[in-house]
Amino acid sequence: MIDPNEIVEFNGQLVAIKDIPSAQIRALYGLGHLPEPGREVIPNPTGEAWPYRPEDCPRAAEMTGTWINDGQYLVCPGCGMDGT
Ligand SMILES: [Zn+2]
Repeated sequence: MIDPNEIVEFNGQLVAIKDIPSAQIRALYGLGHLPEPGREVIPNPTGEAWPYRPEDCPRAAEMTGTWINDGQYLVCPGCGMDGT
């Protein structure tokens, strides 16, 4: 999990990762998933919402997913993005 408020240098300025205007650059820092055709958010089997939205998910860069629905889907534990 990354800290969206972590300060990084972008275009010669110090900004929080969450304030970088480019979604692609934010994703390079591990904040938010880039849209990929065919990848969708799988509903949380607990019936609750996932903690984050894919566009600003702080766990996007993690390599470990969570198996849900008896091993049917491997999803991001932050936002439910399918990584099966
Ligand atoms: Zn995620």
